Amino acid sequence: MIIVMRRNATSQNVKEVMDKIKAAGLSPVTIEGAERNVIGVTGNTASLDIRKVRADKTISAVLRVSEPYKLANRSFHPDNTQIQVDDQIIGGERLAIMAGPCSVEGEEEIISIAKRMKLAGANFLRGGAFKPRTSPYSFQGLELEGLRLLQLAKRETGLPIVSELMSAEYIDEFVEDVDVIQIGARNMQNFDLLKEIGKTKTPILLKRGMSATYQEWLMSAEYIMSEGNPNVILCERGIRTFETETRNALDIQAVPVMKKKTHLPIIVDPSHAAGQAYLVPAGAKAGVAAGADGLMIETHADPENAWSDGEQSLTPDEFDKVMEQITVLAKVEGRMVPEK
Ligand code: PEP
Ligand code: MN
Repeated sequence: MIIVMRRNATSQNVKEVMDKIKAAGLSPVTIEGAERNVIGVTGNTASLDIRKVRADKTISAVLRVSEPYKLANRSFHPDNTQIQVDDQIIGGERLAIMAGPCSVEGEEEIISIAKRMKLAGANFLRGGAFKPRTSPYSFQGLELEGLRLLQLAKRETGLPIVSELMSAEYIDEFVEDVDVIQIGARNMQNFDLLKEIGKTKTPILLKRGMSATYQEWLMSAEYIMSEGNPNVILCERGIRTFETETRNALDIQAVPVMKKKTHLPIIVDPSHAAGQAYLVPAGAKAGVAAGADGLMIETHADPENAWSDGEQSLTPDEFDKVMEQITVLAKVEGRMVPEK
């Protein structure tokens, strides 16, 4: 439910309305508006006597939000959410370009690719330390050692770190060492994990589950936000279809749909959609042209020998080319690539 206060309502009037809502056992949040105060209400609003609320002279309108996602809803927060990570802003004018290997493989490897990605114009370093692999016999990640190596790479380059958390067991370590916690496609509906990361304030990159609808994806964002963490970034990474030629199908329409439904930033990961490196530049360009707030791209100095996802990893030179092309495309959307 959204309560729009009258233009001349004072902060005392807002407080009184908030108190009444709290007394009804609901959770009100104030939504900053340029011209007037708006209060968003979550919880079972059926318990609220809407006629009584409307009768309050300091209130101008009471609107029901019919969608089940409330805090993530654009109507709750008409302006785009911008998320500050170190000196970068996700969802602002500049794109967030997250590049790096699928897995952290070693100190020399992660530091050299981090330096190279910074040189190419990326403003975030991605790297998996805990890997959700389809086979239990595949490399599972360097785990906590991987987080330590990512920290070293950050110290060398200043690039904020994006890395995937798979289990609530390591939340404290991730909050300490990682700047953006990635929740992978396979964990998009791990509700206990979502609730736990919702108790932190660390920005969360929430990947779309490979067969998740838009609404399911937004409800997962709602799980995180309803626990108190508003810093959610959506990531479209391809969905499963009947096609076997590509790993997944990059759903470009997810970008404008999410822009309409939610105020949260959305980035596009063409690498996991593609499964093959030759498809990645097209997906990256399409993502920027569609109005995404950034990209996540897997890169590796020697893709053939990467420990995971080598087939879809771009070489640094291939990544340079993508950066060159999206520099042009970003302008069409009124955006800019990161400052070098
Ligand atoms: C990854 O980013 O390496 C990854 C496993 O992504 P996804 O969850 O999208 O498959
Ligand atoms: Mn990967």
